[in-house]
Amino acid sequence: MSVPRSPAVPSLDEARRLLREIFGYDSFRGRQEQAIAAALEGRDVLVLMPTGGGKSLCYQLPALVRPGVGIVVSPLIALMEDQVRALRELGVRAAFLNSTLDRREQHAVIEALHGGALDLLYIAPERLLQPQTLALFDRVPISIIAIDEAHCVSQWGHDFREDYLGLHRLRERFPRVPRIALTATATPPTRREIVERLALDEPELCIGGFDRPNIRYMVQAKTDARRQLLGFLKGHAGEAGIVYCLSRKKVESVAEWLRAQGFDALPYHAGLNAETRAAHQRRFLNDDAVVIVATIAFGMGIDKPDVRFVAHLDLPKSIESYYQETGRAGRDGEPAEAWMVYGVQDVVQLRQLVDGGNADDEHKRRERQKLDALLGWCEVTSCRRRPLLEYFGENAPEPCGNCDNCIAPPATWDGTEAARKLLSAVYRTGQRFGAAHVVDVLLGNATDKVRQNRHDRLSVFGIGTELSANAWRSVVRQLVVLGYLRADAERYGALTLTEQSRPLLRGEAKLELREDTKVPSTGGKKARAADTAAPADERLFEALRDCRRRIATEQGVPPYVIFHDATLKAMAADRPTSPEALLGLPGVGRTKLERYGDRFLEVLRAHALVSPADDAS
Ligand code: ADP
Ligand code: ZN
Repeated sequence: MSVPRSPAVPSLDEARRLLREIFGYDSFRGRQEQAIAAALEGRDVLVLMPTGGGKSLCYQLPALVRPGVGIVVSPLIALMEDQVRALRELGVRAAFLNSTLDRREQHAVIEALHGGALDLLYIAPERLLQPQTLALFDRVPISIIAIDEAHCVSQWGHDFREDYLGLHRLRERFPRVPRIALTATATPPTRREIVERLALDEPELCIGGFDRPNIRYMVQAKTDARRQLLGFLKGHAGEAGIVYCLSRKKVESVAEWLRAQGFDALPYHAGLNAETRAAHQRRFLNDDAVVIVATIAFGMGIDKPDVRFVAHLDLPKSIESYYQETGRAGRDGEPAEAWMVYGVQDVVQLRQLVDGGNADDEHKRRERQKLDALLGWCEVTSCRRRPLLEYFGENAPEPCGNCDNCIAPPATWDGTEAARKLLSAVYRTGQRFGAAHVVDVLLGNATDKVRQNRHDRLSVFGIGTELSANAWRSVVRQLVVLGYLRADAERYGALTLTEQSRPLLRGEAKLELREDTKVPSTGGKKARAADTAAPADERLFEALRDCRRRIATEQGVPPYVIFHDATLKAMAADRPTSPEALLGLPGVGRTKLERYGDRFLEVLRAHALVSPADDAS
C-alpha cells in the first residue's frame, strides 16, 4: 500500500512556484488550476480539454508537489517517450517502462523507482496491470495516478483499448491515491462512460472550453484539388503541416506530386513498413518544414506543437473526426489553419463506404447521420466556429472572425431556377446517371454517352448554358447536401429525386444557394502580417532558430523540446541581455536557462551589436 500522505494539504502556491520555476509559465490556463487544486486535495479528477489545452500540467504539477512518484498510464509508446524526453529537458526526473527497454534498462528504472529518484513514471495499461508490476508499486509512495487518453475505455469510440477496461482495479489497489483521467473527447456519453468504467470517486469535473481560437477554419468547393492545395500551401512555405487523404494510393501520388513541386513531402499510411513510417514520423518531428501526406493512420500520438496547418483533400467521416484531425494544428497556441476541399464525388464515396460496410442497419444509420452533419457544416454560410462548438454542446455567441465565412462572407444567389433545371434533367434522364452526365446534358454537350442514350433529343438538353460546368457541379453538391437530390452510392452516384424536391420542381419553393466561384483567399499570411516581426527581428528569429536546431541535434531531440517558437519570438521581440531577463520569458524555466541560456544570449548579443549601433550612426 502507498504511504499515507502528510496531513497538511500541499499548497497550490507550491504548484504555482513550480509552474514558473520548471515550466517557465506565469499563470495557469483554463481549468488547470481547478484540476490541480482538486488533485492536491487528494480527490479524483476528470479533465476534459481540447488538444493543446494544457492537460499534461494537470497531472505533472500534482505529481511534483505531492510526495511519491506519479504513475502515468498512456496508450502509446511513442507518446510516452516524447513526454519523458521533454520532461527531462525541463529537469524533471521522469522515465517510462515499456517493451522497448532491454532488461538492464528496465532494471535501472525499477532501481530509480525504489530509490525515490523518480517524479513521474509513464507506463502502458497492460504492463501496469500485471501482478508483478502492481507489486512494485506496493513498496513505493505514489503521488497520483494519471490516466491519459481516458476515452480509450469507451467501447463505442474509435480508440477503444481492451486494456483500459481493467484500470478500474486501481481504485481498490491504491485507494488513497487520487486518480486523474484526461481526454480531449467531448461528448457527454463518453464523459459518463469514463467516470463509470474507471470507477472515479465523485471526480472534480474540469471541463475546458473546446474552442481553438488560433485555428482558422476554411472549406472550399473542390474544383481542381491539387491546384487549390498548391495555392493554400504557398501561404505556408517553410512550415510543417499534415495533408489528409482517404486512400493509400492517393497519399502516395499526392506526396510524390508535392515533392515535384518542391515541398519536403513524405507519405504515411498503414501500408508502408514500420521502418519507413517511423522514419517519416521522425523527419516530421525533427525538421521544421516537413509536410506529411497521410491517411488517418497518422495522428494519434503526434505531439508536435508547431504544426501550422492541417489540410483535408478528402472529407473525414464526421465532425468529431474533423475536429480531432484539425486539432493537431497549432497546439502551441500560435496561428494555424485547417483547410479542406470537397465535392459531390466525396459525398458519394463516403456514403458508399458507410452503406457498403458490414455493420448493422442501426450503426449505418448513425454513421450516415454523422456524415450528413459534417456535410451540412461544410455548406454553412455563416460563422463556421459556432456550429462546430454547438455540436460539442458549447455556446459561442459571437461570430469568430477567424474562419473563411467570417473573413469573406460568401455571396448567395437565387438558385431556384437552376435547381429546377437540374432536377428536371435528372428526372428526364431517368434518374440513372451521375452528376457529370447530367451536367453534360444541361450544357448541351453531345458526348458519346449523351448520344447513345439519345439525351440530345430531350427538352432539357442544353437548357443550362448560362452556368459553367463548375457552377453546375456546385449546384448538384448543394442539392445533395440539402436533401433535394440523392446520390445513390450503390449505383455509382446516380442522382435521384427525393420527396423534398417536389415542391421545388413545381415552383412552390425558393432556394438560396452559396456562390462558390468567389473562393475567399486563404488570407493566412495577411492575417498574420499584423503580428509579423520587423525585418531585424525576423533575422534574429532565424538566428535563434538556427541555434535551437544545433542544440536539438546535439541533444537528439526535436527542436520544440528545446524551446517553442513562441519563446523564440519573445526573445526576438524583447531582446533580453541577462539570464534574469531571459528567465522572465514564457517557456524559460530554471533548468533550461542553466543548460542553454548562454548560447541564446550569445546569439542575442551578436545581433544587438549590429543593429542599434548602425541605427545610431
Ligand atoms: P494537451 O495535452 O492538452 O494537448 P499539452 O499539455 O501538450 O496539451 O499543452 C499544450 C501546450 O500548452 C504545451 O506547449 C504547453 O507547454 C503549453 N501550456 C500548458 N499550460 C500552459 C500555461 N499555463 N501557460 C502557458 N503555456 C502552457
Ligand atoms: Zn467565424
